[in-house]
This record gives sequence, C-alpha cells and structure tokens, in this order.
Amino acid sequence: MTLRQQNDLLISSGPKPRVKVLLPLPLADAYDYGVPEALELAPGDFVKVPLGPRQAIGVVWGKVPQGAESSVSEDRLKDVILRMPAPPLPEESRQFITWISAYTLAPPGAVLRMAMSVPAALEPEKPRIAYTNVAALPDIRMTPARRRVISLLQDVPPLAPMDIAREAAVSTGVIKGLAAAHALAQVNMPPATRFPEPDPDTPGPVLSDAQTKAVQAIQSRNDGFSVTLLDGVTGAGKTEVYFEAIADALRGGRQALILLPEIALSAQWLERFEARFGARPAEWHSDLTQSRRRSTWRAVAEGKARVIVGARSALFLPYPDLGLIVVDEEHDSAFKQEDGVAYHARDMAVVRARIGDFPIVLASATPSLETVNNVEIARYERVSLPARHGAAALPDIELIDLRQHQPGRQSWISPPLRQALTETLKNNTQSLLYLNRRGYAPLTLCRSCGYRLQCPNCTAWLVEHRFSARLQCHHCGYAGQRPEICDSCGATNSLVACGPGVERLAEEVMNFLPDARLCIATSDSLRKPSDAATFVAQVLNHEIDIIIGTQIVAKGHHFPKLTLVGVVDADLGLAGGDLRAAERTYQLLHQVSGRAGRDHEPGRVLLQTYHPEHPVMQALANGDRDGFLEAEAQARTVGGWPPYGRLAALIVSGRDSDTVSGVARALARCAPNNTGVRVLGPAPAPLAILRGRHRWRLLVKVDRNISVQDQLRKWLPKVAIPNAVRVQVDIDPQSFL
Ligand code: ADP
Ligand code: ZN
Repeated sequence: MTLRQQNDLLISSGPKPRVKVLLPLPLADAYDYGVPEALELAPGDFVKVPLGPRQAIGVVWGKVPQGAESSVSEDRLKDVILRMPAPPLPEESRQFITWISAYTLAPPGAVLRMAMSVPAALEPEKPRIAYTNVAALPDIRMTPARRRVISLLQDVPPLAPMDIAREAAVSTGVIKGLAAAHALAQVNMPPATRFPEPDPDTPGPVLSDAQTKAVQAIQSRNDGFSVTLLDGVTGAGKTEVYFEAIADALRGGRQALILLPEIALSAQWLERFEARFGARPAEWHSDLTQSRRRSTWRAVAEGKARVIVGARSALFLPYPDLGLIVVDEEHDSAFKQEDGVAYHARDMAVVRARIGDFPIVLASATPSLETVNNVEIARYERVSLPARHGAAALPDIELIDLRQHQPGRQSWISPPLRQALTETLKNNTQSLLYLNRRGYAPLTLCRSCGYRLQCPNCTAWLVEHRFSARLQCHHCGYAGQRPEICDSCGATNSLVACGPGVERLAEEVMNFLPDARLCIATSDSLRKPSDAATFVAQVLNHEIDIIIGTQIVAKGHHFPKLTLVGVVDADLGLAGGDLRAAERTYQLLHQVSGRAGRDHEPGRVLLQTYHPEHPVMQALANGDRDGFLEAEAQARTVGGWPPYGRLAALIVSGRDSDTVSGVARALARCAPNNTGVRVLGPAPAPLAILRGRHRWRLLVKVDRNISVQDQLRKWLPKVAIPNAVRVQVDIDPQSFL
C-alpha cells in the first residue's frame, strides 16, 4: 500500500464496501462479504469467498448500499478472496434464476447451482502444451528415436506430445527427455475444442408454400418477445421451418438454443442441422465428458458457441446473447424435472425468452392443452403446417378390439397384427412394434403362494430383464438375481413371469417370423448417443426388419421404409389416476403412429385395445385431434384442473413412516382455508416407498387468478419440519406418483 492509499483509508475510514454473494447452495439468501481494496467487483462476477472453514465460489448478486442494515457486523465480515477468471454471469441469467426461485419456491442458490454445474469452467484453462524444435540444438546424446522427433518437427507446426509420439513412433519418455535437455521448446496451444460457426446462408432445401408461409409468419414477429406454436402433423416439415428462425437469429448475431426432450435420440436431428448450416451445433446433455462440458460451458459464456442443442438443463447456460429458443416436441413430459428444483423446461424457456425479449417457437404435432389454451387466450400465436411434406400421407389408424381378436395363451400379438407383420416382412418394408415396457416381464410371481417379487427399497414390482438375467427396479435402480426358490413359501421352480415386456415380445415374434431381423430399442439398449446413432443407421440401411421398442423410438425418427406400426397395448397409459393420462396417451400414440409411412410408401397403424370406444382411441382412429382436445378442455374446466386452475404438490418424505405421516397431517391441519383454494390429502403417495423413503402427498388446487406460491409461502412456515423429513414443493406437477 502506498502512503497516499494509507492516507485515503484514514480519511475515508467509513465501513468497508460490501457485496451480496449468492452461493450455489440451498441457502435462503445471498451472504454479505467485504470487498478488499484492490478488487473492483460488479454484479455477475464469479468470486471465491471463505465459507466457514472452506472456500466456495459464488456470484456477486449486488452491492450492499453504504449504510444499509446488514446482519453481519463489521468485525465478523469476511472478505471476498478473488474474482474468478471467467466472464460474469449475464444479467439475464441472474434475473432468470431469481424468477425461477420465486416461482418454484426453491432457494435461489439451488437454482444457481444448475447454472454453475461446471465449476471447472470458472478456473483458468490448463494450458495445452506442444513442442517445437529449438533454434540451436544443444550438444546432447542423439539416438535414432530422438533424431526422428527432431526431424519430424522440422516440417510441421508445434505438436502435442501424444501426436509427436504417434508420428515419430517414440515413447512420450523420449519427448520428455528432449524437453528436459532443452532440445525442444515448449509452446502453449489454443484450446482443443472448437465450436465452428453454423452458417445461416448455407443453402437449405427449397421450402414448400406452406413452409414459406409459416417462416414468414414467424419472421413477422421476431422483433422482441413472442411465443409461436408451430403446429403441424408429424412429418409436416416443422424442423425446416424453425431452422429458418435459427438462421435469422444467427444473421442477427444472436445465439440460439434448441431444446429437445430426448437428446439421445438426436442423431438424425444433428445430421440435418449440419446439412443445413454446414457445422454441428454445440450439444449439452448429461452424456458429455467432463472436459467437453467445460469447454462447452465456457464457449457459451464467451459467445463462441452460437447454436446450442440440449436437454432442459441447457436453459441454465450463461448465454451472453441469446436471441431465440426453440422447444421441439413441446408437449413432452421429459421437459419436466422432478428432482431437486422442480421446473418445467418449456414454461421456463418462455420465461427466459420474455426476460431476454426475444422470440420462442414451440413445435409439436400434439401440443399440450396448456399451450393450446394459451393460443386460445391469444397469449401465444399459432402457425400451422396442415399436411405432411411432399407426397407422404398420414397413416391409416385402425383399432383392433382385443375382445374379438384375442391373442393366444402367453401371447400378446393378435391375429390381425400378426398378419400385418408377416405381410410387411414379405413386402420388404419395416415394422415397429411399440410397447412401453422395458425388460421381459413387468411382474414375477410365485405360482404356489401368489407372492410377488418386490423391490426392497420401493413400492414397486421387480422387472425381469432376461437378456441381462436380472430383476430390476425401474425406480431406484436396484438389481438382483432371479431367486431359485420363492422367498416367501420356499417352493422351487414356482416363479413365473407375468405380462409382456419388449424382450418377451421379441421372443413371440421370433416364434412366428423366425427369419425377421429384430432389434429391441429401449433406454437400456440405447443408453448412449452413439448407440442410438448405430441403431438409426441400421434401420436406415434396412439391416433391421422389425423394431421392438419403448417410447424411446416413438418420437422424432424419420425412417422412410417403416410402413407398419403396431401398438401392443394402447390402453397402458390410461390406467392410474393421472389427470393427463388421456392427453398423454393421445400424444404418445399419435407420435408413435407418426413413424409410419413418412415417405412414398403409405403407412398403416394397428392399435390393440380393450376399449375401442374410449375417446382417445376414437380420436386417434378418426384423426380428430382438435375434437379430442376440446373434450379434454371441457372436462378440465369443470373440475378446475390445469390449465383452468393451478396445482402444486407437496411430497413429504423420510425414512420413518410415522414421522412422515405426522408431518403430512400437521401440514393438512394448518392448510389454507380460503375461497378458491382446496387442499387434497394428505394421503400416502402411490409410490409409497421410494429408495427406502416413505412418501405422503398433498395436492393444492387454486383458481387460476390465485397465486399458489403466495398460499404456500404463508402456509409452509407454520409447520416445523424435523431434519429427517423433507417437504418437496412441485409447482405445476406432472407426475402424481
Ligand atoms: P416434422 O418435424 O414436422 O415432423 P420434418 O421436418 O422432420 O417434419 O420433415 C419430414 C421430412 O420431410 C423430413 O425427411 C424432411 O427432410 C423432409 N422435408 C421437410 N421439408 C422439406 C423441404 N422443404 N424439402 C425437402 N424435404 C423436406
Ligand atoms: Zn426400487
């Protein structure tokens, strides 16, 4: 410190400047820290601060005005240690975090944690070292290996040690030895991963009139915030339309984000993007390597990644210049995150667009009732693509009444579906058999005592996976061997598989079509994007005749030779008391039907059902989506269910059953008793035990003009929650398990 600075300090020896620092922890608020004299801090700066005995990285959330009241006295105030060498968290991202926290009732730090999922990206990048020859070779012992290295580097730019080792056929030890002897010079290289800029002016396909109109409609509103529903049947060419919106964002120098529900399914999408823009977009999903996550996060923050395609968590990347979001398959329930901060990525994407004052496009063939309602009340604009692109027609959907066309014993494929599969194989086109059940059988029971094999940690049956010879719980991941004898009565050879999973269907198909080439496609078999890419290539090359798959194959794919879709159990999703059961079933079955006949050959869809008269089945068979939506809307209006009312779920959980039910009842006792507010429950959750935790649920239902958050904010603090119990708030719940 200079004398002058010391003097200044003496003169202005008022309180030290303070900032609020939000830490990525589930804390109620930002903490105060002192700003050391040498540091200039601005909101958004990432800083390292002391936290108890540790250090933590947080974000400067704001300055504390001089003289403002603070909970921390001057002598207990700790100082910020340093500012991290990273671009600050943009103001829009900070507003977004604050907004989500207020909406979901999650602590702001818990939301911030989603935006700081890659702490390594805040640290300086480790230099990538390369070597080149020195100007004057020192006098060292030469070996043939050393000579090869020197001569290699004579003609090429600096190389990384790994590359030198490969090209000169030497061990890295040789390179280290040369470097230590100062016979090679070390050079720092720029980062390895590059994010090439997609070029909006790479020529795309010639758009149809309908597509051109849709593009113009979207373009006419791309100044400032707007929400456009891009509504069109499967295969209508929606992707090409929103590609033009992306091109516009790029031309305007902005970043674009595309959210896809299932990034593992995006292989074909990525190829189309590359064909249109001449470069791949940056990807963001849970399957990236740590170093890829780091470089992507950083490239987004520095504005070097211009187009990002990702899963819902991509919303939380630190875009300095986001100018467009596209949510493809906007109705998909995979956009809802249930763990931790419970949020719906589609809805939050709309919020993000409003904060950033830019357009957002929601694309779907089966838009959610929420979105359709928003169109009706003129909050969102609808742009329609009424027909399939080109010559392709929508497939014919036929219902197979299982009461009339019973499959044989221990069999699930009815005679008409068998025949259709046989004919399709004969015609040398492809089929998809759809059943949303992984594994071999959803239930195993003992023939002599009726005991059902259940997960030790959850209220769930164990699912037999015969190919991996295991019994699995699909809720907690428990896996065990199939026992030889019944755990309950000790009988041997008494355990039998009940009901079909995709593996069992494959067994059945093999019996009557032994020559067909089958492929089982589930989240087990297509775990990684590379598996999915291989699968897609095999289908496109017609190395597969019949795909037997779960919902992982229902969406997005474009398989020109696929002409038959058979839905084995169309009723499956209708069971259970979920308020969206009918809507979801319609969406899913429509999606899976949409896989058929996407090219010249017409498609055919057979739905096996015990309830052919059900409105969902009728709407599918008659292609009457809008009639179905109207009926759904009618039913929900009457009950005041979303989107005509608001819901919040409380999930009370803990290891001890009595404590959990006690808290749930205590919450119910002081529940709000206002007009327009109803509290349903408490009741044990349908999934009454999950991962060893007992679960109870309450459901809060309020009129649309009432803030459910305000109700919860007043209500929840009234009950003291013991440490061993967790009360999870789920605003706009999608799952009621
Ligand atoms: P959607 O996203 O609505 O389901 P897609 O965008 O996948 O539909 O389009 C269906 C098929 O039609 C794809 O194979 C796509 O490449 C093709 N297609 C769409 N628009 C055009 C176009 N303008 N020119 C040529 N092919 C197109
Ligand atoms: Zn389990």
